[in-house]
Amino acid sequence: RYILVTGSTGFIGAHVVDNLLARGYRVRGATRSAQKGEQMKAARPQYASKLDFVVIEDFTKTGVFDSAMDGIDGVIHVASPFFLDTTNNEQELILPAINGVKSILSASAKEGSKIQRIVLTSSFASVVDVDRTPPREFTYTGADWNPLTYEKAVDPSSTSVIAYRGSKKFAELAAWDFIKNEKPQFDLVALCPPMVFGPVVHPVPNVESLNESNSDIWSVAAGTDPLPKARVTAWIDARDLAEAHVQALITPEAGGKRFIPASSEPFSYDYAADIIKEEFEWAKGVVTDGYTAGVKPVASYGVDGETVARELGVEYRSFKESVVDLVKQVKETIV
Ligand code: NDP
Repeated sequence: RYILVTGSTGFIGAHVVDNLLARGYRVRGATRSAQKGEQMKAARPQYASKLDFVVIEDFTKTGVFDSAMDGIDGVIHVASPFFLDTTNNEQELILPAINGVKSILSASAKEGSKIQRIVLTSSFASVVDVDRTPPREFTYTGADWNPLTYEKAVDPSSTSVIAYRGSKKFAELAAWDFIKNEKPQFDLVALCPPMVFGPVVHPVPNVESLNESNSDIWSVAAGTDPLPKARVTAWIDARDLAEAHVQALITPEAGGKRFIPASSEPFSYDYAADIIKEEFEWAKGVVTDGYTAGVKPVASYGVDGETVARELGVEYRSFKESVVDLVKQVKETIV
């Protein structure tokens, strides 16, 4: 079986590529950068005959994916703009996210397509209602939707964080609408992960190029003060999230469902600082003392990661393992 992965040279996409390759699948990665595709291939010589890349410079243009779909049996659509230093939120975040989804779904629905399932990397951002403070016993599930309106998401006075949340919500909605209106031959599974951390397997030439979520963890090890502020206390390791994507692709009963892959263990940057100081001698004098040490994080509310564990058979790593593996890797191979 031959699977197309978009966002394949990014943090999460590269883990998805590796999970598929390890299971024996053939993988075609889509990327805007031929060079990053080459680097991904060069780092995986054992998979030379199983891994190829297709360069798609602007995935929001209709028709660009059509020729990339030859022979493809399934799609994992990970790509979406995920950066926060924007100048025009609608142009840089929201429209590319929505149009990318539309473009890949319509290419997958073309006559002759063998694609039976599409897995979409949505986000907990399309689930959570940030304006509400739910009681601690409340648990978000895949049935919940962020109430953010399109008008608010594109409003020039909205921050890029708000716009990013909108980009994920409206891109995911576009996918479900496509299924409802076009009734294609494939079904859809949406995954809505919260913060994603863990070691990287994609090309990262320097710490400045670390993806958004991991750069916050690394900043703790690098001595940032004050520590970053967690917007949510839920998280998942990228390796577990990759497993959830592939399980979502191959589990027949998952079709049409929306899941939140998330560890039941909450995280905080204070806890990350404790772990880093405890595990790395070099970090003891570097990590700031300006935080509340020794306090285990408490979840602000529940997030249902159990359904993914049960229905997709995913086991979650501990926050400690995730932080230690990332920090060790960055210190030894990237800095
Ligand atoms: P990265 O920035 O590492 O990867 C994103 C990938 O998407 C890049 O490899 C890039 O591929 C592709 N991409 C970005 N913008 C565009 C664009 N305008 N056109 C085409 N391709 C684009 O981020 P992550 O791996 O962390 O994120 C991947 C997905 O996971 C995103 O959908 C994100 O919203 C979602 N997510 C991430 C979370 C996290 O904490 N990291 C949490 C929840 C969801 P290339 O440069 O090769 O073209």
